[in-house]
Amino acid sequence: ATPTALLVGTGVGARMGAIIAGPDVLERARAVRTIALDKTGTVTRGDLRVVAVHPADGVTEAELLRLAGTAESGSEHPLARAIVAAASDGGLGELGQFENTPGEGVRALVDGVEVAVLRPDAAEGLPSALASVIEDAQSRGETPVVVQVRLPGPVDGASPSSDSRDGSGGRAVGVISLADTVKESSAEAIGRMKDLGLTPVLLTGDNERAARAVATRVGIDEVRANVRPEGKVEVVRELQARGQVAMVGDGVNDAAALAASDLGIAMGSGTDAAKEAAGITLMRGDLMLAVDAIRLSRRTLRTIR
Ligand code: ADP
Ligand code: MG
Repeated sequence: ATPTALLVGTGVGARMGAIIAGPDVLERARAVRTIALDKTGTVTRGDLRVVAVHPADGVTEAELLRLAGTAESGSEHPLARAIVAAASDGGLGELGQFENTPGEGVRALVDGVEVAVLRPDAAEGLPSALASVIEDAQSRGETPVVVQVRLPGPVDGASPSSDSRDGSGGRAVGVISLADTVKESSAEAIGRMKDLGLTPVLLTGDNERAARAVATRVGIDEVRANVRPEGKVEVVRELQARGQVAMVGDGVNDAAALAASDLGIAMGSGTDAAKEAAGITLMRGDLMLAVDAIRLSRRTLRTIR
């Protein structure tokens, strides 16, 4: 009887828009206590756009966008796509050697100049004017990135020895700030999760201030920010000390955490890597479907007894 009820449950799930990988998934969903939610693309729409361009002294907005847009043209990250889109009107330069560091940013040769577009805490030599631009943007829930160049020879009176040769030394030429939109149903879905006795935790590689701003908007009290891609698995393991953990995500960098959790839930709008690692795939990018799937598993298990 048990397997039959569970199979019926997976059929009901599919009709609701939640593809459940197998009957055992519903059994696991029932005991979940904590639900970790990726921020970008899961709680928010992931449709990032450039909202502000802040060049450093002596640099124009167009120059800043061209450097950053060209460097980012080698990346598929939502931040990268938004910067490329904003830069495209002015035309892009020539992209040479390119390197992407997940959870950190990109480094590339643009028209022969070494350019890096980085999370602010990975950037170097930030003038104080740009540092306060970054803080203000983060407080508004935005994601600022720093554009840095490394010119041959000393720059701005820096000694040649501070111009390190490992690719990290550079001069900040500006900040580009990006923003995303919270999905319409996220706050309601998170309220329902709490009604089901689940504790939601926002999990993101993004900065703490932006993460807090989003968490407040949707009613999440617990935030883990600045989490590197490989760190998401560790956070899931840590949360498992309190009981079973569901993880909801959409990105390549969520796949390992989805697999490590007791119940991985992927957004249908997400990457194949996330869907392959998950037990449940939501056909629409709507967190209400995750609530429905968890309620379904509880109902299904009750029917069996
Ligand atoms: P999330 O968990 O929000 O999807 P990621 O782990 O992909 O975040 O990235 C974390 C942070 O690393 C971003 O907020 C950004 O500051 C920086 N970052 C990642 N990829 C890029 C990129 N292509 N260009 C610039 N910055 C990036
Ligand atoms: Mg994401």
